[in-house]
Amino acid sequence: MALIVQKFGGTSVADIDKIKNVAEKVIKVKKAGNQVVVVLSAMAGETDRLINLAHNAADSPDEREYDSLISTGEQVTVTLLSIVLNSMGYHARSFLGFQVKILTDMAYKKARISLIDTGAIRKELKKGTIIVVAGFQGVDKDNNITTLGRGGSDTSAVALAAALKADQCDIYTDVDGVYTTDPNVCAKARRLDKISYDEMLEMAMTGAKVLQPRSVEMAKKYNVPLYVKSTFSDKGGTLVTREDKDMEREIISGVTYDRDQVKITVVHVPDKPGVAADLFTPLSNKNIFVDMIIQNASLEGFTDLTFTVSKKDLKDAQKIIENTAKKVGANKVEVDDQVAKISIIGVGMASHSGVAARMFKTLAREGVNIMMISTSEIKISCIIQRKYMELAVSVLHDAFELEKKKVK
Ligand code: ASP
Ligand code: MG
Repeated sequence: MALIVQKFGGTSVADIDKIKNVAEKVIKVKKAGNQVVVVLSAMAGETDRLINLAHNAADSPDEREYDSLISTGEQVTVTLLSIVLNSMGYHARSFLGFQVKILTDMAYKKARISLIDTGAIRKELKKGTIIVVAGFQGVDKDNNITTLGRGGSDTSAVALAAALKADQCDIYTDVDGVYTTDPNVCAKARRLDKISYDEMLEMAMTGAKVLQPRSVEMAKKYNVPLYVKSTFSDKGGTLVTREDKDMEREIISGVTYDRDQVKITVVHVPDKPGVAADLFTPLSNKNIFVDMIIQNASLEGFTDLTFTVSKKDLKDAQKIIENTAKKVGANKVEVDDQVAKISIIGVGMASHSGVAARMFKTLAREGVNIMMISTSEIKISCIIQRKYMELAVSVLHDAFELEKKKVK
């Protein structure tokens, strides 16, 4: 008997008919003789709706109450699925985060799971019960409800799979797997049968929406095999797993994009020790995540510093940086919100030279200017003008021949 964790996203539980469809999928796995733990998201759009309500109620809603509010979407779906399963003759029980005891730290809106008490779930599993757990939520040591960040149900599922030592963790969504790039942007996008944890993590962090980055990190840490599958079709699927020999043949596995970036330049900053710290410390104190940073070569003791932040942080970041720019004696602050980040990802990059050159040449040929570059062992990202984003995705997809399946 295997223990299988099945996670269904918001579009898979968007209404009662869809929840009934999910029930069928769950029953199929149960009937095959497995123990089943289901993790659900809220109905599509529900978490956004709750977030809007909170912001209509107050400009900066109290964080404790905010997390309690936005966690309620999952309570609706887990109870509905349990009602449906019970009515179909299967014993099912819903669990909220605090009922399982998914213990987290105290960081509201982005809590991290520290421990999962598997006792209650195991006891029910032994009785043959189908367990239905609310994703996205936990509880801190003082019994306050916390949430795990947008898309956090993926992380709930992987954490439960790791804690229960599940044999498999299936992430059901509205696409049938992980693609070489977004099929909506590039028609030649191809589904990958398999991808390594590291590549998946870079893809998730550079804009692929299919999995929450933290869930991939955790899957890697605990070696949980992750399958990304479609709720609406039995075909396809992508296995996210440890790197293996086949994967090394692929230089590049995917092209991602992120249009959620804005570029901020602090112009004519004195080039002396402590200035970067002065500029970036107030941002990090406000939990504003700075993604790429470049500093130009200095000219007569002055330089320009450019960095990117997420669009949602622009207002706060701009206020803070204009303040500190004055203090450090910079000339002015410029904002460009018409940019996009485009990235290529692949484990093979580490052992092949010329990958960056090919990326830059491909963009140059199309007249796309690169404004910023950042690299890791298995990723190269460029900031370009937003209007060239779709074009860049397509030409890079072609240049690295991603539409072709690599032969073993
Ligand atoms: N419902 C939450 C969200 O919309 C968590 C999730 O769907 O994974 O972000
Ligand atoms: Mg999701």
